[in-house]
Amino acid sequence: MKTKTCLSVKTIALIVLLPVSLHAQTTLQELLAPIWELTKADATDGQRREYAGYITLNTATGEYSLADVVHGDWVANDEPAELWLLARPPDIPENPSPIDTVIYIVAWFHTHTPTQYITVPYRPVGPSPEDFTAAIHPLVNLPGFVLDYVAKPAPNHPPNSIPAGHPKDGETALYPITPPNRRAMP
Ligand SMILES: [Zn+2]
Repeated sequence: MKTKTCLSVKTIALIVLLPVSLHAQTTLQELLAPIWELTKADATDGQRREYAGYITLNTATGEYSLADVVHGDWVANDEPAELWLLARPPDIPENPSPIDTVIYIVAWFHTHTPTQYITVPYRPVGPSPEDFTAAIHPLVNLPGFVLDYVAKPAPNHPPNSIPAGHPKDGETALYPITPPNRRAMP
């Protein structure tokens, strides 16, 4: 992980890290907690919006951070949420030498919005078909995570859904969005 001997060692480290481990998931949940607070605060009886950004890994410290965090457009409570994800930022440095300490962009993330005030009966939880499309977009091309609620379907609703009026502070989960191909190895 902290080896600086050659590029191929770093590449192996990246392969190991991309399918994020259980330990890292806990870290990511903590890392995304402030973004989840913003997402909840922005969901009112008039509108709501998602947040998105990138997750970086500092290979010297093993620390994950957030980068390029943006919010989606405001949408009314009878509309699906809209999000414009920025293109993946370059690693730092962009073209590392074998002895550089590198900050890699390892994943992207976004939040889904509370249904407390929505005026449709329910919405599905977890990644949408559009989320998988975003993950394989040439300007993103990274695994992603969506922070969303754990499904709590009302009677006669689909099993992977939460109903309108679901409490904002309901239990959340980090759902992986794994593209079929990985980004080119640095
Ligand atoms: Zn989504």
